[in-house]
Amino acid sequence: MFDTKSPDVGHLLAITGNMMSGKTEELIARIRTFERVEAIRVQAAKREGTRYKRRKIGVYKHGLDTRYSDTEIASHSGQRMQASLVESAQALYEDVIKNGYGIVACDEVQFFMEKDDDGYVIIKVLAQLLRRRCLVVVSGLDKDFRGMPFGPMGDILALADERVSLTSTCVRCGAPAVLPQRLINGRPADWNDPIVFPGATEAYEPRCRRCHVTFYSQSTELNPADGFESIALAKAEVAAGNE
Ligand SMILES: [Zn+2]
Repeated sequence: MFDTKSPDVGHLLAITGNMMSGKTEELIARIRTFERVEAIRVQAAKREGTRYKRRKIGVYKHGLDTRYSDTEIASHSGQRMQASLVESAQALYEDVIKNGYGIVACDEVQFFMEKDDDGYVIIKVLAQLLRRRCLVVVSGLDKDFRGMPFGPMGDILALADERVSLTSTCVRCGAPAVLPQRLINGRPADWNDPIVFPGATEAYEPRCRRCHVTFYSQSTELNPADGFESIALAKAEVAAGNE
């Protein structure tokens, strides 16, 4: 099925972490390294009198992420790189095959939330790329504003061969920030608010576990608010702010 003499081996690197932790910066750095390595392999093959076919690199990001640009991935520190916007895992796969990419990079991979009977489609796509001996690097937010695994990220981390986990700095106290704080009209978001809420007036900021706040307006059998005194404190804080 495959050329067993091919030097390439499938590998999946997952870069995860909180918002503003430098995930995209790390992704861009890795892609630049792959570009250099491919150039070195071409030179090495020439010296040995053989030929090396440079692997083509495909860079993607999910269509939901148009914060900076429709055609580039961009880090908070200003690093930029051309990227193709894709709306689904299937579209990403088809584009990789069409272009014959041997190295595939994708930013904001947590947004590939579509599922079929087997689970997240992006997991099947990544597994298939690995079977095709692609070198794959993805970056994504590992936890949503509730502090729960973001869409396919848990499965992506399990599938990955190598993982890089990054933290940012809490905007309130300076401790390591591991969670995205979601604010809707300046108020901490409700647990039951949808994870992706296009069009709402909302903001996010990195916070540590101590400063992270989520409201729980509906009681559930296992109410995650039980025993969280920070909720009462945050409510009092918001009430004071509204006076
Ligand atoms: Zn904090």
